[in-house]
Amino acid sequence: MKKADLQTIFDFVAKYAAERRSTDGNRGHAPLVGYDELRLRLALPEGLPGAPGEEVIRDLIRFAEPGLGAMTGPRFHGWVIGASNPIGVAADWLTSVWGQNAANHLASPAASAAEEASGAALLELLDLPREAAVGFVTGATMANFTALGAARNEVLRRVGWNVETHGLFGAPEVNVVLGAEAHSTVFAALKYLGFGTERVVKVAVDANGAARGEAFTEAVAGISGPTIVILQAGHINSGAFDPFQEIIPAAKAIGAWVHVDGAFGLWARLAPTRAYQAKGLELADSWAVDGHKWLQTPYDCGYAIVRDKDALVRAMQIPASYLPGAGDGVRNPSELTPELSRRARGFATWAILRHLGREGVSRIIERGCTLAALFAQRLVQEPDIEIMNDVNLNQVAVRLGADLTAADADRLTHATIARIQRDGVCFVGGARWKGAAIIRISVSGEGTTESDVEASCEAIVSAWKSVRLAHEAGRTSV
Ligand SMILES: *Cc1c(COP(=O)(O)O)cnc(C)c1O
Repeated sequence: MKKADLQTIFDFVAKYAAERRSTDGNRGHAPLVGYDELRLRLALPEGLPGAPGEEVIRDLIRFAEPGLGAMTGPRFHGWVIGASNPIGVAADWLTSVWGQNAANHLASPAASAAEEASGAALLELLDLPREAAVGFVTGATMANFTALGAARNEVLRRVGWNVETHGLFGAPEVNVVLGAEAHSTVFAALKYLGFGTERVVKVAVDANGAARGEAFTEAVAGISGPTIVILQAGHINSGAFDPFQEIIPAAKAIGAWVHVDGAFGLWARLAPTRAYQAKGLELADSWAVDGHKWLQTPYDCGYAIVRDKDALVRAMQIPASYLPGAGDGVRNPSELTPELSRRARGFATWAILRHLGREGVSRIIERGCTLAALFAQRLVQEPDIEIMNDVNLNQVAVRLGADLTAADADRLTHATIARIQRDGVCFVGGARWKGAAIIRISVSGEGTTESDVEASCEAIVSAWKSVRLAHEAGRTSV
């Protein structure tokens, strides 16, 4: 492409981006156009004729924008979603402009070095063993899969079984022990790795969803042979932490590999008033944590952190005559993850860490927790609204209609969530927890302020009141 044409198209996108991101807070948080309509809008034309580049980009914005989730907005409280910090976005653009394949250090020395530098900084920030290897993956799902892959192969290697060459046919059985309310992606990782989701020991949890320490240590004490213990830092509904200080030494005593899923909760280690909950997890063998949640990197970005680098490399490396080996001190990103060709995610992480610094990251985490507590305080003032968790982090589990029958409360909760989403002042999602429908609120984006929390609470309460009124007036459609 000629420079003038490049200038036109890139300038156009940059200008649009500045407009879009500077108005994140002013827009409604509901998609204006639904999925069915978007399928029609985005259907490619019959026969697939080509079109000029600028027109294509304008069309993409025109067609897609009304159907975007408001994930960069300050009142987006669904799931656990970061807000794509603009400096990270700019670094992510450069990543695409540079078009680097991050597979190995020869192909892209800069991509390898950026991952290495950012990985070291992450270990420093999270205060994890400095010798650990950090694989840059798409998110915590892949981080769980990657780390648990290394765990599986290593615990079997220790009893003389080589999974890399002999697979699982006839292999000794591996015990897997975890809290009953581990994240669904941990069960998915177990499914992908050939363990199955049911053939594992699920330990009972407390009222906040954390594994019970005593039950866990008892379960572990009765086990022998290759064992993987999976713990959680940050329960998806409650933000709860498993009692690491109690469980990890017991797991280590039987020679287990301990993995911690800390997709967002691991960041609590940077929040002065919350870090106590994440104490002791540094004694584990591997950790999964996301960049694109609390660290605010653009999608996608997660980190698979493994203390024993050799175990990770053995499990993940792809030997091929045309790929360079990794000498001492040389990083080949593809040896630490299940992927060969992939995006150079290290640049966005590097830029965010360099920009926010320890103070900046710490402030985002601490503020998210404070604002979550504010949500709880405000909502619990309503007589028929209950907070179901100890709000110890950034997640708030809200139960509506404490005085109604369970069936009515569930039905009205679903209706309220739909109404909140439709009104678009804020976005919240739902879940089922302890047998009940809940509204789940997460404060994960860096842009949320007290007044956003105030506006969101008003929207939630007002939606709830109108749903409830309609119910009491005997109407079922709301
Ligand atoms: C979000 C989350 C995951 C999955 O992470 P992705 O980035 O969505 O792949 C795993 N565990 C926990 C606790 C999470 O919150």
